[in-house]
Amino acid sequence: MKVSTSTSSLDTLDVDGVAIGVFDDLSLSGYTEDLTKYIEAANFKGKSGDIKILYTIDGFKAPKVALVGMGDKSKSTIETARVAAGKSTKALRKDGAKRVAIPSFGNAQGAAEGALLGLYRFDELKTMNPESRPDLEELIFSGSEEEFGDWEKGQTIAHAQNFARRLGELPSNIATPTFFVEETKKQFEGVANVNIEVYDEEWAKSQKMGAFLSVAKGSHEPAKFMVINYQGGKEGDKPYAIVGKGITFDSGGISLKPSGGMGAMRGDCSGAAATIGAVLGIAKLKLPINAVGITPLTENMPGGGATKPADVVFASNGKSIEVDNTDAEGRMILSDGLVYTEKTFEPHTIVDIATLTGAMNIALGEHYMGAFTRSDELWEQLEASGKRTNENFWRMPLDDRYKKQLKSSLADLKNVGGRPAGSITAAMFLSEFVEMERWVHLDIAGSAWPSSEGPYVPKGNAGVPVRALIDLAESFAK
Ligand SMILES: [Zn+2]
Repeated sequence: MKVSTSTSSLDTLDVDGVAIGVFDDLSLSGYTEDLTKYIEAANFKGKSGDIKILYTIDGFKAPKVALVGMGDKSKSTIETARVAAGKSTKALRKDGAKRVAIPSFGNAQGAAEGALLGLYRFDELKTMNPESRPDLEELIFSGSEEEFGDWEKGQTIAHAQNFARRLGELPSNIATPTFFVEETKKQFEGVANVNIEVYDEEWAKSQKMGAFLSVAKGSHEPAKFMVINYQGGKEGDKPYAIVGKGITFDSGGISLKPSGGMGAMRGDCSGAAATIGAVLGIAKLKLPINAVGITPLTENMPGGGATKPADVVFASNGKSIEVDNTDAEGRMILSDGLVYTEKTFEPHTIVDIATLTGAMNIALGEHYMGAFTRSDELWEQLEASGKRTNENFWRMPLDDRYKKQLKSSLADLKNVGGRPAGSITAAMFLSEFVEMERWVHLDIAGSAWPSSEGPYVPKGNAGVPVRALIDLAESFAK
């Protein structure tokens, strides 16, 4: 799909369809002439998310005019623009339009995000019946030249998030650790100030990453440890570090998962996918900061070499871990990832992201991601980024009293803490591998795979929280 900009007004554009926002007082967004008679005849009330396509309206070159409800004008935000753009572009595509023009709906960045995130569809593995999945040929932004920069920015962010969605969605026979590395390198081609290092299992051995390697042992797919380093700030400026869980398939290992729904475990790399997407966005936006993305990548399989329950391994900070449950593998690979990140890069902030625990989904469902941090300041920054991007976080306890549940009779600690507070004991486990205060652990197990399609979120992998992580980077840049 081609994406372009125009300063011509919507009615003069020679396209198949245009979108116009309608507030609940029936005032318009994106068009200045009076359309009241059409809006009233269509019984359109402008309620947020409502959509109606009108055909061959006087004064419009485009045969299709999609009215999209924007609700209360006084409460309009960037999110209003995302929803209006997502809803209207999808409706016009479904109605057969090939070339579509939209206005900013009050926020050009939000309009670009909503349209490009909304139009995203994962169908690259389907070869039959392409007519059932019509594509847009061109998306045109109709606005003022001052808005073009924000429109570009929204596009960059949406592309970064769509890339994360794709990595998370692809099945594990395609999206192996090696594939992750290759696709990432392709995406970063030509992006300035980025250096990508990829390390293998031998290197991990030399780093004494016994926890990471204990997960990789059961699989034939070679594990990879990828580091994406973006230098947009001054040399010596401490970086913003993002560490993402990259389990490209989680069978549970010897603690094998039940077979129902196991295919969704191809998405257990969503933390790594979001990490890569966030650094991609940060680098393409040329934010004046240093940032580093770290992704330990491996499958968790029950092969002959697999780690067995009660095996004891040593993480790279020397701590011994009793692997009580091989399905609690995300925290194992993150422990070595976190030790490496803090020691190597001395970042000012570490964010780790993982589809870590089923307990997180039970606690918060899909509308909030759990955030665990000891830093009130970092929490406030993260919460604000979550609100601006509508990728919301809820602060969970990181309280030493939960550590008791991780006591092991064999080693320094056990990798699981029993049923109560499963997402919290997972976070407590990770806290054994980070010393700095400005660290936040994000458990996205509930939000990574929304159960239904939203205005600009697909059914399937959502690519969260790429927008929030980029917004957080912007707040560091200020
Ligand atoms: Zn697992």
